[in-house]
Amino acid sequence: MRNAAGLMLATVVSAIAIAGLWFWTSSPRADLPPPQTVGAAQAERLTADASAKAAREDVEVTAAIPDKPPVSPAKTTCANPNALGVSRVVEIDTTGGPGFGFEHFKQLDFLADKEVVLTFDDGPWPVNTPAVLKALADECTKGLFFPIGKHAGYHPEILKQVAAAGHTIGAHTWSHANLNSKKLNEQQAKDEVEKGFSAVKLALGAAPSPFFRFPELQHNPATVAYLGTRNIAIFSCDLDSFDYKKGSTAEKVVQTVMTKVDKLGKGIILMHDFQKHTAEALPELLRRLKAGGYKVVQIKAKAPMQTLAEYDEAILKDTKLPVASTRPVTSVVQTVTE
Ligand SMILES: [Zn+2]
Repeated sequence: MRNAAGLMLATVVSAIAIAGLWFWTSSPRADLPPPQTVGAAQAERLTADASAKAAREDVEVTAAIPDKPPVSPAKTTCANPNALGVSRVVEIDTTGGPGFGFEHFKQLDFLADKEVVLTFDDGPWPVNTPAVLKALADECTKGLFFPIGKHAGYHPEILKQVAAAGHTIGAHTWSHANLNSKKLNEQQAKDEVEKGFSAVKLALGAAPSPFFRFPELQHNPATVAYLGTRNIAIFSCDLDSFDYKKGSTAEKVVQTVMTKVDKLGKGIILMHDFQKHTAEALPELLRRLKAGGYKVVQIKAKAPMQTLAEYDEAILKDTKLPVASTRPVTSVVQTVTE
């Protein structure tokens, strides 16, 4: 009996000890702050730091950008204290296919006096596109690129550099066909648009922005209406650099752009990263724009392009030949004499 009573007592004592230990380890500890929580004062300091940093960069983001890719280091650091830079970033809601550029669309006027948008067509292309990227990087500024689908397929690594530098990328058809030509029917024009976007997407490994520029600025009305149904914004221009014209030189490109922009006071500038003379002209042109008091506006899309699966698949099929045989090499190739 004594033994049994002793055992019972020991059990009760153990139970109390275990309960006490559990209470001690699992109780909220009022004397310590909860882990990984930033105090109010610290949060305020962080916010103030972020605001000061934003002010230093002198970039005004006018709206939130959902689903944006991570900000590249190139965007937040600028080694050139006198750089042209980016004065503001605008976000475009492409619903219904709005048109920009006073040469064809006069409804939406979003640029203030002395504001310009730098646009580049027909790339990506070796030497010239990288030279354009370098000139833009040296001035810590950003452009809007309209690559050709086929060129994106030839040089995906160059197009990836454009994206990595933080520029905005739309599309400029599959093969640079004139969509207003009588040679193309409505379906063929749609195919040019859709294949262009799918090819750019495949090259980038990510959807581009739903921004489109018509080759040669030939706006086919049926295709304009179609782009509206696809929620793709159209970019014409306010001034053409004429950098593709025969006899063009870097000096002529600078002269043409500066004369036109000084007359208009602002505008979307059409250039070609495909063209050697544009690549050569750009450092001087950016310097002249800065000296003239012009400011660069960067264009971004509210949401990425929604490509159509059938065109994505068609592009993949174009780039990959079918595999006819899966037999191993030893069964296909035999050494018959040595
Ligand atoms: Zn073009």
